[in-house]
Amino acid sequence: MSILADRLGRIKPSPTLSLIAKAKELKAAGEDVIGLAGGEPDFDTPDYIKQGARDAMDAGQTKYTAVGGTPELKKAIIEKFKKDNDLEYADNEVIVGTGGKQVLYNALMATVNLGEEVIIASPYWVSYPDMALLAEGEPVFVSCSEENSFKLSPEDLENAITPKTKWLILNSPSNPTGSAYTRDELAALGAVLKKHPHVWILSDDMYEKIVYDDFPYYTIAQVVPELKDRTLTVNGVSKAYSMTGWRIGFAGGPAELIGAMTKIQSQSTSNPSSISQAAATAALTGDQSFLKDWCESFKERRDVVVSMLNDADGISCLTPEGAFYVYPSCAGCIGKETPDGKVIQSDSDFTQYLLESEKVVCVPGSAFGLAPYFRISYAASMESLQEACARIQRACASLSKRAAA
Ligand code: GLU
Repeated sequence: MSILADRLGRIKPSPTLSLIAKAKELKAAGEDVIGLAGGEPDFDTPDYIKQGARDAMDAGQTKYTAVGGTPELKKAIIEKFKKDNDLEYADNEVIVGTGGKQVLYNALMATVNLGEEVIIASPYWVSYPDMALLAEGEPVFVSCSEENSFKLSPEDLENAITPKTKWLILNSPSNPTGSAYTRDELAALGAVLKKHPHVWILSDDMYEKIVYDDFPYYTIAQVVPELKDRTLTVNGVSKAYSMTGWRIGFAGGPAELIGAMTKIQSQSTSNPSSISQAAATAALTGDQSFLKDWCESFKERRDVVVSMLNDADGISCLTPEGAFYVYPSCAGCIGKETPDGKVIQSDSDFTQYLLESEKVVCVPGSAFGLAPYFRISYAASMESLQEACARIQRACASLSKRAAA
């Protein structure tokens, strides 16, 4: 008999993390691989943030902290929510976790009972369904079409809500599509949610700071304040400050929920790293002006990638408002034949073909619940993005129409 618990059978390893590892492995083996699977900025963590960590170490801040975060970091988070999102939280209404991932996990573990439903708009970030499943909940997927920029419509939300719905997960700008909800779109979703007081809202705002063309960013509790007492607003320093390895995420929400999440954390990991918390405090309270340059640089890359992909045979790609992902369709490649005689039947076949023929690593849309698409992270140098897109163009041009049977 297996030693493993039944719950392990419900989940799979994170496909994004597996592909990031695969690209690193191939690179280490000397392959000329271009890895566009990983959702992490290629910039170094700014020095003022590193200095915050050095100072903390020198000052002996190397011991346990309060489970839910140091007073300094909580204060910085409360100020951030007030300044950026017009949301007021008290001390017992915020929590710091080991990455946004742990915060989301704690929230679902603290609230979801057996069989309760979690509404997830597809395409979704890979870990939402598996976290819901680990918490013994039922992910309920709502497909969001490319025509609607992969965003959830109020009608589809209404139809997905049942008496068993516990949460709606919203993610704007989205991983994997980069699409972001406007203020009006959030208000329209909010109007539906107001009619269903048993539904809680988990707003994953991890890419808030990475938006382009002056996109006006809003989060749902700000747009629809009546929902604030059943909304968990999740954010973190990983993407905006290029701090993926430091593992600091945070959330604001009702005290009862935050207390329950802190209780779970107290019995699992205790506090997030004290040094990382000091660095995150520096990140949130320091000069934010570098962000403008970073976004400018991401935007240039987005524009090149979108244009080069749209020039590839069989690929079409929207221009998203934020994050550093594009989610092109490869529908025009399905049914075609590779030079060595394999027929591309799915987006997984297509990304496998890109890997084998051109050594470009992307994540297939099947990992995000909407096919036939694939995700490219353009948080890479312009040079490697141009080279990767040229390789994709070449791979697409080498496909031939399938001979009639
Ligand atoms: N969030 C990033 C991504 O989607 C990092 C990997 C992960 O945690 O999924 O690529």
